[in-house]
Amino acid sequence: MTTSASVPTEPEDAISTDGTVTDRLIDANQRYAAAFSDPGMDARPVLHVAVVACMDARLDLHAALGLELGDCHTIRNAGGVVTDDVIRSLTISQRALGTRSVVLIHHTGCGLESLTEDFRHELEMEVGQRPAWAVEAFRDVEQDVRQSMQRVRTSPFLLHTDDVRGFVFDVKTGRLREIDPA
Ligand SMILES: [Zn+2]
Repeated sequence: MTTSASVPTEPEDAISTDGTVTDRLIDANQRYAAAFSDPGMDARPVLHVAVVACMDARLDLHAALGLELGDCHTIRNAGGVVTDDVIRSLTISQRALGTRSVVLIHHTGCGLESLTEDFRHELEMEVGQRPAWAVEAFRDVEQDVRQSMQRVRTSPFLLHTDDVRGFVFDVKTGRLREIDPA
């Protein structure tokens, strides 16, 4: 699909020449599974925390936060936006799987900073149908984190909204900066 609404893409030289990228992932999984042994874990996250973050490829959540397998729920989308579907996941995370804390992570250089809600209009012009979702583009990453914290704190579906903290991850330094909710 080509669209004027597309985000600029990187060159495709990182993709393996033999087989598709998915073939490469399947090969990697075969090696992973060969060395894998059942950790015998419960589905309930060990640290009782859910992390909501942008899908950005430069953000390695487990490494950046010192998380191990089984420690947390990870909920990611474009921007780390607290959408209705993120609230759905958080509600299940808290009510069915015992998490109590929520960590929100946005980051510097997010692709959503270069988009506007015109993206939806351009899509509509191209495909003849307006998407039901908002783009959730933003200009001020701190304000965006505050809005996300507010959406979690005011959700009527969540059991635990007292420990909700928001951060900006700097993709150049690897550091997290906490955002004051006020
Ligand atoms: Zn992002």
